[in-house]
Amino acid sequence: MSLFTRFFCCLLLFSTVIFSRTIYADDTLNIPILCYHNFNPTVPGSMNLTPAKFETQLKWILDNGYTVIPLKEAVDYLQGKRASLPAKSVVITADDGWQSVYTYMYPIIKKYHVPVTLFIYPQTISEGKHAMTWQELKELQQTGLFDLQGHTEWHPNFKQERKKMSPANYEKFVTMQLAHSKTVLEDKLGTKITLLAWPFGIYDKYLEQQAAKAGYTMAFSIDARPANKNYRPMAQPRFMIIDALSMKTFAGIINGAKTKSPIVNEKASQN
Ligand SMILES: [Zn+2]
Repeated sequence: MSLFTRFFCCLLLFSTVIFSRTIYADDTLNIPILCYHNFNPTVPGSMNLTPAKFETQLKWILDNGYTVIPLKEAVDYLQGKRASLPAKSVVITADDGWQSVYTYMYPIIKKYHVPVTLFIYPQTISEGKHAMTWQELKELQQTGLFDLQGHTEWHPNFKQERKKMSPANYEKFVTMQLAHSKTVLEDKLGTKITLLAWPFGIYDKYLEQQAAKAGYTMAFSIDARPANKNYRPMAQPRFMIIDALSMKTFAGIINGAKTKSPIVNEKASQN
């Protein structure tokens, strides 16, 4: 082997190592997706965060050099349509369409100007005593900070419903919950609904298939891990943020996502 060939081979090997390292690091980027629900300034409960606590958490995120990115940017990255994201990315979501999102979360989101995705189920909107109205959702949408996505028709517990129905009826039920709700939201809001949050975080392989069939491109659970390219698209995890969470644990969730976590390709998800 000539000196030149040897040099060339070394160069090739070296660049391959560098290149594959770069890809490796990028491919394993972990994204903590936070899942909020309800806000209450006086009576905090498991799903009721005080607005002050939410603001403290958001301030911590921003003060510690993290970027709150829109969920859609995270989805593009997870689907391989986007090459990179800020290394310290965090996503904020809130489920169900509670009135308190409009009353308490909205002013804080406006103040810090960060993007949020709301997962809503149409049956409660303008109907439920503590739910937002379509008008309020439109207002949030028009700020450009709120993206609205799907959370089924009426938030069923799929695990229990499956036990009560014949396979044929269950299939019809699932289609209605996933596909019909998507159409209603698209008609009411005038935007494409492509993302889904599983009610109660319940999903299985069958539901994942039905969600893809209904036209969702990604679906989210509350499996308390950072999202990563290695999870199945209809089983991307989020962290549920409850009032009992200390700031230390909260910081641990966000900081922990920076380090590479062991990747699990096929997780046990048969609920
Ligand atoms: Zn929910």
